[in-house]
Amino acid sequence: MCRHLGWLGAPRSVASLMLDPPYGLLVQSYAPRRQKHGLMNADGWGVGFFSPDTPDGGPRRWRSAAPLWGDASFASVAPALRSGCVVGAVRSASIGMPIEPTASAPFTDGAWLLSHNGLVDRAVLPLSAHAESTVDSALLAALIFDRGMDRLGDTVSEVAARDPQARLNILAANGSELVATTWGDTLSVLRTGDGVVLASEPYDDDQGWEEIPDRHLVHTDGDAVHMTALKGPA
Ligand code: GLN
Repeated sequence: MCRHLGWLGAPRSVASLMLDPPYGLLVQSYAPRRQKHGLMNADGWGVGFFSPDTPDGGPRRWRSAAPLWGDASFASVAPALRSGCVVGAVRSASIGMPIEPTASAPFTDGAWLLSHNGLVDRAVLPLSAHAESTVDSALLAALIFDRGMDRLGDTVSEVAARDPQARLNILAANGSELVATTWGDTLSVLRTGDGVVLASEPYDDDQGWEEIPDRHLVHTDGDAVHMTALKGPA
């Protein structure tokens, strides 16, 4: 399983979200605290964010197939990257999946950034000309984008019905909304007063972190957080 994190709120540096916290994605890349599948997340990393400085307003991404802890260039630049909407991930590649920068989350359709933590049988996913990689997560992202983000919960339930073993923990953002699903792994939420963090696991020991129950859809605009149960087999 990979670990992912999303931020929606006041502009913050990418380093303050991914690298600086005592148990942030950097530490989670070699010593995650709540990981249920896999030991560490050394098969790549990625971050995407929205910035008012980009001409088209679309997301910008930086992805790699190398361990996050060894990337001195990212460590140097991350304190200078500021955004009010960020999706970051560190990756533990599932067996048989390619290890390449395009297989690292976040994936995009040009409007949304999307990370998948889990595993799904590629045979139940349609082939897509839009998939960025042959990794299961890229095929799943293409299907979710194709169906529309407003149908995320239904798409997750449908894929789970086709592959009952699937783990379908999604995190996605479009600059003004942050959405996530829990289906087989952990997710926690932290309201900071100037925004909302959703993360596979808490990046520090703040008492404010709350666990999201499994098989739920979470939506936030950076202020209110809404949770709804997902449909699925018992
Ligand atoms: N199955 C995905 C991959 O191989 C995600 C893996 C994970 O969540 N560890 O990249």
